[in-house]
Amino acid sequence: MILKESSKLSIPVTFRAAGTSLCGQSISDSVLVIAGSHWKNYKIDKDGLKIHLQPGLIGAKVNALLSPFGRKIGPDPASINAAMIGGIAANNASGMCCGTAENSYKTMDSIRIILADGSLLDTSDPESKEHFRQTHPQLIQEISEMAASVKANPILSARIARKFKMKNTTGYSLNALVDFSDPFDVIEHLMIGSEGTLGFIAEISIKTVVEHPFRASSLMIFPDIEKACNAVSFLKSAPVAAVELMDRAGLRSVEDEARMPEYLKTLSPTASAILVETRAMQKEELDRQIAVILETVKRIPSEIPIQFTSVPSEYALLWKIRKGLFPSVGAMRKTGTTVIIEDVAFPVPRLAEATLDLHRLFEKWGYHEAVIFGHALEGNLHFVFTQDFGSQSEIDRYAKFMAEVAELVVAKYDGSLKAEHGTGRNMAPFVELEWGAEAFALMKQIKQIFDPNYLLNPGVILNNDSEAHLKNLKPIPAASEKIDQCTECGFCEPNCVSAELTLTPRQRIVVFREMSSLAKSSHEPHIAAAHAEAYQYKGNETCATDGLCATACPAKIDTGKLIKNLRTEEIDSGQNRAVWIADRMAGTTAIVRKALSFVGFCHSILGTPIMKGISGSLRKLSENRIPLWNEFMPLGAKRINKIQSLKSAKKVVYFPSCINRAMGVSKENHGEKQLSEKMLELLNKGGFEVIYPEKLKGLCCGMAFSSKGYTGAGIKKSNELEVA
Ligand SMILES: Cc1cc2nc3c(=O)[nH]c(=O)nc-3n(C[C@H](O)[C@H](O)[C@H](O)COP(=O)(O)OP(=O)(O)OC[C@H]3O[C@@H](n4cnc5c(N)ncnc54)[C@H](O)[C@@H]3O)c2cc1C
Repeated sequence: MILKESSKLSIPVTFRAAGTSLCGQSISDSVLVIAGSHWKNYKIDKDGLKIHLQPGLIGAKVNALLSPFGRKIGPDPASINAAMIGGIAANNASGMCCGTAENSYKTMDSIRIILADGSLLDTSDPESKEHFRQTHPQLIQEISEMAASVKANPILSARIARKFKMKNTTGYSLNALVDFSDPFDVIEHLMIGSEGTLGFIAEISIKTVVEHPFRASSLMIFPDIEKACNAVSFLKSAPVAAVELMDRAGLRSVEDEARMPEYLKTLSPTASAILVETRAMQKEELDRQIAVILETVKRIPSEIPIQFTSVPSEYALLWKIRKGLFPSVGAMRKTGTTVIIEDVAFPVPRLAEATLDLHRLFEKWGYHEAVIFGHALEGNLHFVFTQDFGSQSEIDRYAKFMAEVAELVVAKYDGSLKAEHGTGRNMAPFVELEWGAEAFALMKQIKQIFDPNYLLNPGVILNNDSEAHLKNLKPIPAASEKIDQCTECGFCEPNCVSAELTLTPRQRIVVFREMSSLAKSSHEPHIAAAHAEAYQYKGNETCATDGLCATACPAKIDTGKLIKNLRTEEIDSGQNRAVWIADRMAGTTAIVRKALSFVGFCHSILGTPIMKGISGSLRKLSENRIPLWNEFMPLGAKRINKIQSLKSAKKVVYFPSCINRAMGVSKENHGEKQLSEKMLELLNKGGFEVIYPEKLKGLCCGMAFSSKGYTGAGIKKSNELEVA
């Protein structure tokens, strides 16, 4: 419907899944279709060997669904906890293990797409294909002819095949024209990596891959990058699942983080690391593989002795080093600057030379904080640096640096300018440089066939403006030290409880930044006022301030703290009243308990409809101060019986929050035990003796106050609890 209308009215449309893309491909100043929350259906087939997925499912959630079958999806971007299937397929995303063998292109079984004219094609359904053949004969013919002409051009088809042996997401998936002849096979594979510029992916069926139960990892430190890269070349034929390269600057950027190995601080100035992982179905097989790998790298002298660990907590720590590289640069950057991650690929035998060349470019252009890491087994390197877009001279520096990077990757190494993150707007000006005129013409022809009016995600992948990557640069103004380090990656969004009601933490931050800029400029005060008014409910009142966003944020930003600050600023009186209540916590919880029990009693006498009527009237009379009652309201909690606990040498302190001390089960769940009793049972079952803090009745963690902006009372209660 949307596509039919946009086609009729010539209005550009962009699709978005989780919006975690790094190259500006899921943004728009026209219609943005966010296919997330209503696109989460799935069906598992053949005992997990195949899965049918709608585009709004988060990758990690799909893997959780497949886990009981010992399977997972092939694509494994580092963003898998947030990225959704639509974006994973449309970017042909990949990661540490999937390489070019298990990406969406290789593991796709069939696809259901909606084209720019609003027509639907389901390649799993013979009837749909037949119908499409009849309604779109020209499209079918043009695609068939293209595939045939590419195959008839041995130099071009060999170049395409060679370039896709490496990871490559620059431009369209031209390998579809080489790998397939059936037009439907070509169409479905062209959709992969098309970044929403050829059609909408409404469903995709994927052949799953095995999830090995046994894993071991080793952080191998070599004296220099050359030796580390040589080790990578040798490991290419060893039984490894992942080999991640990290340069000295990268290791230095995380050495001060909690629980990092001490030796990181004392490595030689040129030391470089590779993090190697091996996986197997059986323990014995894993041990054999470890022996083969150790034998393989024995020829290269390492800076510290090489050893593997299969202890989950230990290898998780090693991977924490690798995963911390991007956020650590982001977190260290100067306020107001942007963190940029590039994503290139080189032939593996030339990886060392290419890495040194990149280091030289960083030096030349003054990117001294830049770090290099990446999926070395695939020749795929990421480099992360910070960039100020606040002045023309800085933009010029960035432009010259990027031009030299492109020249280096293409002219010297015939590599990929975008290995896995997609072309987006950022790399669109360089697609022809990488591919050459002949292949680039094919890409334009593909776009012309599927979207002749250039309405789908215009400017992405193909862009006539050779300076598109230097325009519309997004400022990141300083707004509050609580959130200035946010890179707007979107990892926080799946954790937010109000995401589908109002704003996500990322959106709260983005709007807050905009409001801060507006407040600083004297232009258009009415816009600033309108923002502030809308933010009151959408940004402020609906934030749960529970800090769950921080648990997923690479920079550990707790957006709730920003909102608590705003709430504190709003409170001009009442701080003392909050402290007064906080000092009488035992009485307060007792009153709540009794009030809830009384309301529950009234409910049992009057019934639900009358209670609802009375509650509605009271709320109106109180001008919304009295909360609206509903039948799920809990009854007052039973007092906590401290004597019940089992006696044991294993002891645990259990602090039931004031909410759980006040609220019991609802009438609906009559017969169930209240949470504090269940917790006690669970801990006892685990053999623990439960110790309650002294003077429990008067204690509170402080959240009830601080979350409303009553900071003084919040800190007081939190300190009291800690002492207890
Ligand atoms: C910290 C960080 C680490 C990352 N690590 C990796 C990594 O290791 N590997 C990697 O490959 N990428 C990585 N990325 C980039 C990005 O997360 C992935 O490419 C991811 O797959 C994008 O998914 P998404 O759901 O966010 O898609 P979005 O950003 O929402 O969209 C991506 C593209 O797909 C299109 N699209 C979305 N849904 C549809 C649909 N239903 N139909 C048609 N087109 C659609 C959009 O228009 C857009 O062009 C990383 C990003 C961050 C922030």
